[in-house]
Amino acid sequence: MSQVHRARLAAAGVLAAAASTAPLLAAGSPDSECPNILLILSDDAGYVDFGFQGSKEFPTPNLDRLAQSGVVFTQGYVSASVSSPSRAGLMTGRYQQRFGHEFNHPGTSPVDSVGMALSEQTMADALSARGYSTCAIGKWHLGQAPRYHPLRRGFDEFYGYLGGSRSYFPYKKRPGKGNRAMRNWDFEPDPPNSYVTGTLTGEAVSFIERHAEEPFFLYLSFTAVHGPMHALDGDLQAFEHIEKKGRRTLAGMTAALDRGVGRVLQALEETDQLDNTFIIFLNDNGGATNNHSDNGPLRGMKGSKWEGGIRVPFLMSWSGVLPEGARYEQPIISLDVFPTALAAAGAPVDALRTLDGVNLLPFLQGEASDPPHDTLFWRRGVAAAVRQGDWKLIRVSGSPPLLFNLADDPGETTNLARRRSRIAARLLERLEAWEADLAEPDWYQAKTWENYQIRKHQMNIVGRDAERALP
Ligand code: CA
Repeated sequence: MSQVHRARLAAAGVLAAAASTAPLLAAGSPDSECPNILLILSDDAGYVDFGFQGSKEFPTPNLDRLAQSGVVFTQGYVSASVSSPSRAGLMTGRYQQRFGHEFNHPGTSPVDSVGMALSEQTMADALSARGYSTCAIGKWHLGQAPRYHPLRRGFDEFYGYLGGSRSYFPYKKRPGKGNRAMRNWDFEPDPPNSYVTGTLTGEAVSFIERHAEEPFFLYLSFTAVHGPMHALDGDLQAFEHIEKKGRRTLAGMTAALDRGVGRVLQALEETDQLDNTFIIFLNDNGGATNNHSDNGPLRGMKGSKWEGGIRVPFLMSWSGVLPEGARYEQPIISLDVFPTALAAAGAPVDALRTLDGVNLLPFLQGEASDPPHDTLFWRRGVAAAVRQGDWKLIRVSGSPPLLFNLADDPGETTNLARRRSRIAARLLERLEAWEADLAEPDWYQAKTWENYQIRKHQMNIVGRDAERALP
């Protein structure tokens, strides 16, 4: 083990035990041993649509290599089954319903009125205060007004798109502002003959090369593999054997995503930073109904409280600090990314107490053997869920509760709410106690979406075709 590795192990061990009252935003320059933090997010990918998640159809050698170098979570959750609230939870380490970010951004105007509450500090704010160089690349979806812009939320640099989804190829006519490429404060045209996944990769490589000498936080938020279903010709040709066109296109989009991850890893390697970079990869919500993704054994899709809506591909890798080739089986959640990254960056653990997420380092290093969370919660309007131990309850307005034992029934096929009514009552109580601390939503979703949510959670909606019929 190298001296650098030993120093880092020691630093992480101290972090797990340290107690301090220093505020989270305490200024200071990071120790030269502090790792870079690279957070890579994919969009709407299916639970089993990466090699490291078991796909035989979609080869993802670079993501697989990354997974092999670290810890794969077998029960990794996000805090929402749709994009914007999930990202708000990820960026703040807090349940987004605490600050009114319960719903996706409405597609209609006034789009400038919604965004991630300015009361919240982001992980970029906190890492920036510790002296990190910070950069957001790709999809933002946390507000389009200037006050919600990445450069106002702790990031030093931004290249990407403020909205929720856009064409992978350059627009022929100027698109709406949410879809236009933006560098820091300025809109700019898409590069000619470009493909978004490649463009974002190039921006990430450039940032990594320019910041090889100091600790950085790079949030690389790919739009892949969210619709529209656009793949490069070369990537489509490689998957001619896949019969269904949508699935073939998704394979091509996934290949481009994986190639991008490979180029980013290569840039870290070439600038001698790979061993000193803490890398987190996850997907923002369950595989979507409209992009031909596959959630494998999990019931439900994006937008639902079924496991297929909230359990995602999720991994962490940090050479010499986290175990290699490991799987972590306890439930964890995207809210844990912020405190874990802060701890990796040397922030005092006491400073993380206001967050709902927990620092996972001691759990992943075998210093703590309890589950990181006693209970996890989800809610978006009419549909809510709570998980405690192996029990999960889904509560939908106007319907009796659904109760599943995920250890015995990971596909959520058998509702035990009547047979195990005491457990159901206890979980409902926990859910209501959590809700008592939540804020009124800052905006709402259209009634149509509420109706879809109610229908998605009916026990008689069985199978992908039936699930896909409800967006
Ligand atoms: Ca998404």
